Amino acid sequence: MNNIKFNRPYMTGHELEFIAQAHANGHLSGDGEFTKRCHRWLEQSTGCQMALLTHSCTAALEMAALLLDLKPGDEVIMPSFTFVSTANAFVLRGATPVFVDIRVDTLNIDETLIEAAITARTRAICVVHYAGVACEMDPIMAIAAAHGLKVVEDAAQGIFSTYRGRPLGSIGAFGALSFHETKNIISGEGGALLINDKADGRRAEIIREKGTNRSQFFRGHVDKYTWVDVGSSYLPGEITAAFLAAQLEQGEAITRQRLEIWARYHAWAASHELEGRARRPIIPAHCVHNAHMYYLLLPGLEARTVFIEGLKSAGVGSVFHYVPLHSSPAGKRLCRAHGDLSITDSVSDRIVRLPLWIGMQDRLDEVLEVCDEVLAGL
Ligand SMILES: *Cc1c(COP(=O)(O)O)cnc(C)c1O
Repeated sequence: MNNIKFNRPYMTGHELEFIAQAHANGHLSGDGEFTKRCHRWLEQSTGCQMALLTHSCTAALEMAALLLDLKPGDEVIMPSFTFVSTANAFVLRGATPVFVDIRVDTLNIDETLIEAAITARTRAICVVHYAGVACEMDPIMAIAAAHGLKVVEDAAQGIFSTYRGRPLGSIGAFGALSFHETKNIISGEGGALLINDKADGRRAEIIREKGTNRSQFFRGHVDKYTWVDVGSSYLPGEITAAFLAAQLEQGEAITRQRLEIWARYHAWAASHELEGRARRPIIPAHCVHNAHMYYLLLPGLEARTVFIEGLKSAGVGSVFHYVPLHSSPAGKRLCRAHGDLSITDSVSDRIVRLPLWIGMQDRLDEVLEVCDEVLAGL
């Protein structure tokens, strides 16, 4: 038995030291020194106007929906091939997600289908940069501008990735990052909202601080703080921020190591692709990705089931996702599909994700050997 898990969270080795510092600082609630350090790091590395740590990417998406002032009946165009939070954040405001199909190459929203899905109620487009590979942001931003729509980037998987040189999350009005332990840079649970229009920054701080102007009060801009808008508590404590700061500092090294593993998978899978057993990920030339995941597209649902079982019985973890939102019970009730979603349906039956975590380098040959055997028997 190999016993190679699908995912293992990576620790840089500095997390506990930073947490001890946060402990010694005696400031454990949000927005202390470590949170500020993370904000500066994110602002400098992405070029966004303002970065705010949140409890999760889900929370960052909820903040974006609040900042957009969505009302019941408003519509947000998005892919169905995504995690539930992409849709839920808007559903919580009473808005209706409208799904369009994805591209066969990147598995991202098909930008050529967006315009036909726009109605008088459409307020925003929420793109998802699947596997850390960018959506076609230039045409998407042009469509949004032509119709007066805002663009939200679900960049949960996209830290350190770029589109034509621009970091993901810094292109639309808002970008949402995830630091969940299954992502590249982690803090257990965690996320950040990137705000790209300065005008939204002040309101974002208020929404994140229970609808109060507490942040301005601490900067000395107002002499007392009070309830000024809707809001909730979206800020993480300093212990989480300290953990994250240790990870962000090592972010480039983390990405480099992941890319090495990804490249070995990609070279290995070439012959299987040639022989029609599996399709490899496609990275457009103008996109730099972050090796968030390595996936294969198998010929069909049955092949995928056999493949995952085969790996499992050899002690190698692999997973599939997503149940397309349009075919989920809540998606059927709360969302609407625009047009045919056959690529979404086909991909979600055929995709399999292989283990990709720092520390597995020495065991990658074992994984590839198991994959070779199982693929040969499909
Ligand atoms: C992981 C993920 C999320 C949710 O992130 P959390 O930080 O767990 O809330 C949202 N969207 C996508 C595309 C994701 O991959």
